[in-house]
Amino acid sequence: MTGVSPPTAGRRSLANRIDAATTRQLLDRFRDWLRERHLPITRQRDLVAQAVFATSGHLSVDAIHRRLRGLGHKVGTATIYRSLDVLVQAGLVRAHDFGEGYRRYEPMFSAGQHGHLICGRCGTVTEFSTDRMERALALIADEHEFHHQRHRVELHGLCRACREADIGAIVRAGRTR
Ligand SMILES: [Zn+2]
Ligand SMILES: [Zn+2]
Repeated sequence: MTGVSPPTAGRRSLANRIDAATTRQLLDRFRDWLRERHLPITRQRDLVAQAVFATSGHLSVDAIHRRLRGLGHKVGTATIYRSLDVLVQAGLVRAHDFGEGYRRYEPMFSAGQHGHLICGRCGTVTEFSTDRMERALALIADEHEFHHQRHRVELHGLCRACREADIGAIVRAGRTR
């Protein structure tokens, strides 16, 4: 009655940890991009870029702010927003609006298309490969003689941890009766 189903077969989470070389590479690309446009490579821009590039997560401005503060760097949120805009323009960061009332940012090292599973309770964002779906979408677009440029796949619901917490609560409630 709780609608619990076994984990979906074939689900694949993309790597969560980014190696230092990848972070370095993105950072170099960002600096090159700024240089080519004669834009200043400020320390604050660099710090924001590093904070985003060091994770494969989907960070809010608040999370970036906290991360920088934790490392002892004082960067204001307005500066973080502006730096993120530049990173998005440079094509190195993707901005997401998951309908939470704020945006989240992720580095664009993952060339492969992926979808997002967004937990409405704890806010966890899980990525999954959309390879099979890409093929299906290409066929659908063909059928309609539609030139497909882009799409986004977002599933909203409850993550496994939150569902398990629910089930645990139901079991505990059952025991006390
Ligand atoms: Zn959750
Ligand atoms: Zn993602």
